[in-house]
Amino acid sequence: MGHIQLLCDIAELNHLFHDSISVESFMQETVEMAARHLDADVCSIYTYDDADRLLMLRATRGLSIHAIGDVCMRLGEGLTGKALEARRCMRVEHASEHPQYKYFAGINEEPFESFMAVPIVRGVTRIGVLVLQRRAQRPFTDEDELACKAVASQLANIIENARFLMTRDLTPTCKPPATIGPELRFIKGKTASAGFAHAAARVVDTHRRFGDLLQTAFEPGLSVMDLDAALAATAEQLQQLQEQVEEKLSDAASLIFASHLLILKDKKFIGPMKQLIAEGIPAPRAVLKIAKEYIDAFAATADEYFREKVQDVEDLAVRIVGNLIGHVEELADYHDCIVVARELFPSDLLRMSSENVRGIVLVSGGVTSHLSILARSLQIPMVITNQPALMDMGDNAEILIDADAGNVYVDPTPEIVSRFEERNRAQAAVRASKGGVKPRTLTRDGTEIRLMANINLLSDIAVAQEANCSGVGLYRTEFPFIIRNDFPSEQEQYVSYRRLVEGMAGKPVTFRTLDIGGDKVLSYYQNAREQNPGMGMRSIRFSLENKDVFTKQIRAILRAGAGADIRIMFPMISSVEDFGQARAVVHECAERLAACGVEHNPAPQIGMMVELPSVVSLIDAFATEVDFFSIGTNDFIQFMLGVDRTNEKVERFYIPHHPAVLRGIAGIVAGAARRDKEVSICGDMAQQPAYVPFLIGLGVRTLSMEAAKIPLIQQTVEQIELSQAEALAADVVQQTSAETIGRLLGVDRQKGI
Ligand code: PEP
Ligand code: MG
Repeated sequence: MGHIQLLCDIAELNHLFHDSISVESFMQETVEMAARHLDADVCSIYTYDDADRLLMLRATRGLSIHAIGDVCMRLGEGLTGKALEARRCMRVEHASEHPQYKYFAGINEEPFESFMAVPIVRGVTRIGVLVLQRRAQRPFTDEDELACKAVASQLANIIENARFLMTRDLTPTCKPPATIGPELRFIKGKTASAGFAHAAARVVDTHRRFGDLLQTAFEPGLSVMDLDAALAATAEQLQQLQEQVEEKLSDAASLIFASHLLILKDKKFIGPMKQLIAEGIPAPRAVLKIAKEYIDAFAATADEYFREKVQDVEDLAVRIVGNLIGHVEELADYHDCIVVARELFPSDLLRMSSENVRGIVLVSGGVTSHLSILARSLQIPMVITNQPALMDMGDNAEILIDADAGNVYVDPTPEIVSRFEERNRAQAAVRASKGGVKPRTLTRDGTEIRLMANINLLSDIAVAQEANCSGVGLYRTEFPFIIRNDFPSEQEQYVSYRRLVEGMAGKPVTFRTLDIGGDKVLSYYQNAREQNPGMGMRSIRFSLENKDVFTKQIRAILRAGAGADIRIMFPMISSVEDFGQARAVVHECAERLAACGVEHNPAPQIGMMVELPSVVSLIDAFATEVDFFSIGTNDFIQFMLGVDRTNEKVERFYIPHHPAVLRGIAGIVAGAARRDKEVSICGDMAQQPAYVPFLIGLGVRTLSMEAAKIPLIQQTVEQIELSQAEALAADVVQQTSAETIGRLLGVDRQKGI
């Protein structure tokens, strides 16, 4: 059992990774370690290249080292290829007698008959295979398999990050020139994450910093030793950043800087630089030249994954050159400034948050709704504008962002600044005078309304507790998936989920299973491009299609929910069959956990999100199946009205008070009531005061919202007289005009809040 404990511990692999000098040496040390702990005579790693569907031996302990880089097999070929093709472990006692066995001459494999191949996969992406072999008569056990799988799942992330280093294809391309626009002092943008910030601007344009360096003339004089010192300093700085992120956001951290660190270890990256320096090229020029070759190769592909790598290489090259020429202080320091950027990845937001960025202005569309949600969770005010000219503003310009209204002021006048400062003081005073939020929320006539919190990251728990929420009505489990570099393992998910459950101290917690696809992109999940991802292989469809990912998540939820009030709900359910299949997975997982004696919650309530119009007419059929409903109005409106919720061009058609939307919600609430099933609202409508009387009038008694909105909604509920709300709801559902409804609900008056 000892070796399992050891291998399940990621720390040892991480140490190996950080201490090794190249990807190759890391893999070699990993096989040595795994062979030692599992008492195997042979341990090998094969990596898989999807383009030519070939597996190649990359590291081995026990076979001939000449086989490294030489032994290849196709997907499905031999026991190893079969394990990867089927994405399942192959355990065989007499390998050479197995019909699938493939013999390779001259690699000294003959004596090792006990065989175990564990696929290295991330979700559905095939990455490689970890193979262990022993002499005959020493078969592998279930425990060995478990330990080997634990190692393989950790290896997946690291090898996947090294994949692009091993397979790059150097084809240069040109980048378009930067557009220069007029200087602007006031820009009307869109709120992505509310709040206020007033600070110096920091224009984040790695492309330009890198481009500027390319144009710089460097003095000769720096040696290969100076490069080594700069590389070591860069690695040290990245390590520190990694630690900062982990400290602040434990559930989201993962190895954000893994690919940076891997590139730093890559001999093919560093070797040619040293060669150029030895030939007399100034050291910074040598770094930039080689980095440029990588960048051009990555930029030539249309793949999102590689686009992200372009930024990584640029960022890394700028850091190395900064360390070489002593301008480190200029590197990506976001403390107390407002970042102005063209494009950001979720991992950028995490880094910036860990350095206490004050606010963010994104200067061109291209923002997923989840980048905004993440900014809200991180409490970073963020505005999206359509003004690329802001990128030319230069650092240190003073900016004020009023993200509540989506306004950006460049170089604001003293009057504007003092107006905002006054407003902020007044708001702070109101907050202070109100004191804490009451634990129960009652309408004027005493009807209780439960106000629950929507949680995206574990850092939201503190705000939710402060706001005295009645529990978690929606935990968007996809966030740790979106912002990481890989699929989190069952154990990693369990740890996060358990922290949420414990953080809620006995209050109910509703887990929504993975809701990815559409605009919630996993940069590491290479799915076939879809014409219309919003209606593609997403949400529950993704989970049912990728049962291994789904099963791991459900097991983690059930384990984390042991002894607690947890609920599970599925997103984007379109048919009763979808729901039945998803629920069956929960039941199967619970049975397996019980059979293995693993502590878990055997019978959580199982419900569904209502986000698709197809549910409305089938509500009675659904209501006999589910334990509860939660209406996701964000998607419900989008699909009811056929309006992309992230497309500003059609924003005016996205009308929450459209009669079809409100009648749809009324139908769901009534259908749920007929079967005595709870229905809550967890989309943005629940946190907009204008809709609250209508929803309560329909019979909704649970609203789930961003925790920061709970005080406002509590005040709203306390103004409501149930009989009046019921009369209002009855009136509204009779109407056929959005304009009339808008007037009845007072929607216009509250526009923009
Ligand atoms: C919704 O669609 O209303 C919802 C709550 O889910 P998300 O915003 O995460 O898609
Ligand atoms: Mg949704």
